Amino acid sequence: MNQYYEAINHCIENHVNDYMTLVQDMYDHPETGFQEFHAQEILSDYLIKAGFTVKKSVACETDFIGEYVSQKEGPIIAFMCEYDALPEVGHGCGHNLIAGIGIAAGEALKNIADEIGGVIRVIGTPAEENFGGKVQMTKAGVFDDVDVALMVHPGSKNGLGGKSNALNPVKFEFFGKNAHACHPQNGASALDAAVLSFININLLRQFVEPNTFIHGIIKDGGQAANVIPAYASLEYYFRAPTMKYALEITDKAINCVKGACQATNTTFKTSIYECPYEDTLVNYTLANLLKEKYEFLGVENIEPVKEVGEGSTDVGSVSYVCPTIQGSIKIAEETVQGHSKEMAAATISETGKQGLLAASKAIAYMAYDLITQPDLLNVVKEEFKEAKK
Ligand SMILES: [Zn+2]
Ligand SMILES: [Zn+2]
Repeated sequence: MNQYYEAINHCIENHVNDYMTLVQDMYDHPETGFQEFHAQEILSDYLIKAGFTVKKSVACETDFIGEYVSQKEGPIIAFMCEYDALPEVGHGCGHNLIAGIGIAAGEALKNIADEIGGVIRVIGTPAEENFGGKVQMTKAGVFDDVDVALMVHPGSKNGLGGKSNALNPVKFEFFGKNAHACHPQNGASALDAAVLSFININLLRQFVEPNTFIHGIIKDGGQAANVIPAYASLEYYFRAPTMKYALEITDKAINCVKGACQATNTTFKTSIYECPYEDTLVNYTLANLLKEKYEFLGVENIEPVKEVGEGSTDVGSVSYVCPTIQGSIKIAEETVQGHSKEMAAATISETGKQGLLAASKAIAYMAYDLITQPDLLNVVKEEFKEAKK
């Protein structure tokens, strides 16, 4: 085996219990998006002890950038860490393990960087769920000089990443007129406008392109049954393979709402109530490289690149700034759902630990190859430029 691969293995295996202690600590103290002060602190402290310089709160309060500049010039490789949890299910998306994987790969690369060159960054990207930490970070230019960004998400399958849907989160607010419910002729029901809009948008679903998802809830529907509600609201996600199409179906939904307001003598306004996410650009060269590393490590049943996006992720924004991959590693049986307590439990299990070992080694090997093989890095970058067009 390549001596540097051996050094990577050695470093990660030696420290695996430290990484799992971090993973367990985050599991025990789950923090939702932009509240991850504890995770930010323990991960930053670890990196500082490992010899990185760390900047905190660069683009948002709970982010961090750990950096090690080696003695030799070379590309900038970023390992992304997520660490936000979910309400109710804690680390049910397994982001605590993503952080462990990023730290492990970063430390292993840092230890050989003076010989092979390059700049190693471990970037803490908070609030992946709902708030788009990476969107804010890309807007602030955090990834502008990065040559390649790597990460692996745990789940119930091994995979090479793939496309994700663009997401446009839209809130509709309705304004009517209060009245005693026994004198409804004096009022205008914002709730009726919301209900009718909900029905209209449901009818719209039949007439959209495949792989497009529209889902919403009634957020406010009035306060008392004997008062005609003057205010109601709906919150929607419009998801599509491209942001262009997500915006197109948003416009169609706005027409549905206009009709509902005309019918109910009410008015409305729209706003973007969460962070919009870009779709993800796939880099097949990186995907093939991850496949090669997984196979080398004996990882089995590797799913091909997902050509149809299911959910949405803020990794999409990074993928438009630099070549990016988010692979996946199996830590639980397929019957275990994402966003569940069972998935959270898997992150601190023996399979979680094995997943951390395989995933961090795989992306560390990838980083080594990309640093030491400029031709390979060029292919990755050329593909990225083409895909962006
Ligand atoms: Zn999630
Ligand atoms: Zn996730």
